[in-house]
Amino acid sequence: MILDYSSLLIALAVSATCLGVTLLGSWFARRSETFLLSCTLGLVLIVGGIVTYGFYVDDPAVSFGVVSFILLHAGFAIIWGAGCQFRSNILPLRATIAWALAAMLVSIPPLLIGYDGIAFIAQNTAIAAMLFATAWQYWRARREALVPLIGISILYCLAATSFVVCAAVLVADGKTVLGVAPNNWAEDLNIAVCIAGMTGIGALSLALHQWRLAARHLLEAITDPLTGLLNRRALFERYGQRLIGPETAVLVFDLDHFKSINDTFGHAAGDRVLKIFAAELAANCGPGDTAARLGGEEFALILTDVMPNRAEMVAESIRKAFEDHKIHVEGDTFTSTVSAGIALGCSVPMDFDAMLSAADKALYIAKRAGRNRIELASHLHAVSIGAARTVS
Ligand code: GH3
Ligand code: MG
Ligand code: MG
Repeated sequence: MILDYSSLLIALAVSATCLGVTLLGSWFARRSETFLLSCTLGLVLIVGGIVTYGFYVDDPAVSFGVVSFILLHAGFAIIWGAGCQFRSNILPLRATIAWALAAMLVSIPPLLIGYDGIAFIAQNTAIAAMLFATAWQYWRARREALVPLIGISILYCLAATSFVVCAAVLVADGKTVLGVAPNNWAEDLNIAVCIAGMTGIGALSLALHQWRLAARHLLEAITDPLTGLLNRRALFERYGQRLIGPETAVLVFDLDHFKSINDTFGHAAGDRVLKIFAAELAANCGPGDTAARLGGEEFALILTDVMPNRAEMVAESIRKAFEDHKIHVEGDTFTSTVSAGIALGCSVPMDFDAMLSAADKALYIAKRAGRNRIELASHLHAVSIGAARTVS
């Protein structure tokens, strides 16, 4: 059975509506993904444009043409904006409006003065440009999830190309005045490609959404919510099974008399102090290093590629910067200090637990020696576990 043009248009409108409903449902599951809402809005406008265009096909009145152009251009511009929003979390409102207005400006005036042939060439070209630009946005974000994002980019490019073909066929025809809606093989192909493209984009968007959810959950599971540093679990996942060799150092920090800060200035002030210290730790964390909150007011820093004295210098710089930091809380200004224990990896590889407990012992010595100081662990060999194992 061969479908006529109107039936294809209805199928396209239904397909776009289904995609819109799917995206809206996904947005309900995770409301922070506002690009899904923008996509839905774009699709609503596009469906409106398709339906109005269906009226234009039956009765080519200029008013139907203008309304359908307005809706389609606004819809595709928002779809582009949603692509930007997916990548950057911000809907570029001005640029979106600029896209829509530019597309309307090139296509509606020719329609109003009777050159509908030119109007449709401009309309197809403008939509193609917006779809290529949308593909570019997803392509730029491809690192986040390679397969679905490359797939979405390809589908947007295919849809864009089908609009280019429509424009090219009209140009080849050479008619500036048509009097009716364009009806040729390119228009049929365009609708078929858009139906297939939308179905594919819908499926891939869902896959992408699930992938993002899983990635976010994973991130939440390994992050300390107060400080944004890795949590204890993540630290042990990263280092728990490794042997620590001579080029690595394990540093353990514990804020001094932290309980009294809570008692004097309140728990919220204590939280602020923890965040300030975490920021200091992160600022001293190089590319291969790891900073983590072990729990409460205890933190760890794993330094890799330590040159002689680097661990001590880093610890001292953190201690000093933290000591100098004036903390302002509701009219009060105070300072806080930290003590640290350092375990330097030695030629006999040791497991991470042993290194951590050696650093802990050094920290205990620093506390007993008066706090606000750094101690180096000694006699590590007593807890080493043998030379037969290799460093990973
Ligand atoms: P020391 O110098 O010996 O380390 O003394 P301290 O007071 O720092 O150590 P102590 O272990 O006695 O107290 C740690 C306090 O840290 C107790 C606990 O209420 C507080 N604490 C743990 N987690 C948090 C947190 O997330 N926020 C705040 N504000 N306080 C916390
Ligand atoms: Mg403690
Ligand atoms: Mg403490």
